Amino acid sequence: MAIKLNNGFKMPIIGLGVWRMEKNDVKDVILNAIKIGYRYFDCAAYYQNEAEVGEALAEAFQTGLVKREDLFITTKLWNSEHGHVLESCKDSLKKLRLDYLDLYLVHLPLATKHTGVITFASVLDEDGVLDIDTTISLETTWHAVEDLVYAGLSRSIGISNYNIFQTRDCLAYSKVKPAVNQIEIHPYFQRDSLVKFCQKHGICVTAHTPLGGAATNTELFGTVCCLDDPIIKGVAEKHKKTAAQIALRWGIQRNTVVIPKSSKLDRLKENFQALDFELTEEDMEEIKSMDRKYRTIQTEKFWGIDVYG
Ligand code: NDP
Repeated sequence: MAIKLNNGFKMPIIGLGVWRMEKNDVKDVILNAIKIGYRYFDCAAYYQNEAEVGEALAEAFQTGLVKREDLFITTKLWNSEHGHVLESCKDSLKKLRLDYLDLYLVHLPLATKHTGVITFASVLDEDGVLDIDTTISLETTWHAVEDLVYAGLSRSIGISNYNIFQTRDCLAYSKVKPAVNQIEIHPYFQRDSLVKFCQKHGICVTAHTPLGGAATNTELFGTVCCLDDPIIKGVAEKHKKTAAQIALRWGIQRNTVVIPKSSKLDRLKENFQALDFELTEEDMEEIKSMDRKYRTIQTEKFWGIDVYG
């Protein structure tokens, strides 16, 4: 299943996210995922495993497991690189061992001071607070990202973590329209208004953190996981599916692309099987009632400020 983007290219409706995937796991996970049927891999310079993804992709192409043109590869511009878009994209392509990307995203709607390194700590100032660069506008960044399309380095370009106002502005100043807005979405954080706004204006919405980050975000940020909610468990029981499959299927039936991360073979299969069944309108309504407007990636816990506030 795929979604047609506003430039005619097609994007698979389910992909595999690789954030917080251990470098040592990446190759096996990607090769297994391709065997299961995954065709979209969601990467980022910030995830620091592009080289490992590149190694896996090279092996997949060399062994004939899959052809380049059958995959959809996304990576993202990190905050500190807004003033260095071309170099950053070329660096990602080199690590991924690709000559073009399917989609290049502006990771977040803010630039931070350029330090020459991409690490968690490199975006913080001496007080441990996100060091936002006030000299680079999102419009400037976007025009540099548009140049990647003209240069043939990325087929599509998009935005990530943009709200309605930022997305509206991007539509206004863009010569190449954003094809995608990748935002946190799960049953506890449904973003109905933003999803409707993007879809109305031809922007495909991708749901990052589609499982609410499950155990990982609970451990790291102390957040509550939607997969433990009695409503989702009830719908899962009714369909003889898992809570994760219900959350993903709900996302798919809202015409949003879902990109769950797992390093476990059984879960890779389980998540991909979200393609194999359907929720009723009643199920969709029940899950709709779960919305708590609850973000699990709470930036004040690691950047010292709530960048969405
Ligand atoms: P997810 O919602 O995908 O949750 C991942 C967690 O769920 C991991 O702990 C994983 O553990 C666990 N998990 C996976 N499958 C199952 C299952 N079937 N049942 C129970 N638990 C499961 O959160 P992520 O934060 O990883 O987001 C997914 C992707 O979205 C990222 O990898 C990244 O590509 C993208 N993303 C983009 C952001 C952006 O700013 N643009 C921000 C955050 C994410 P295990 O691996 O052990 O299975």
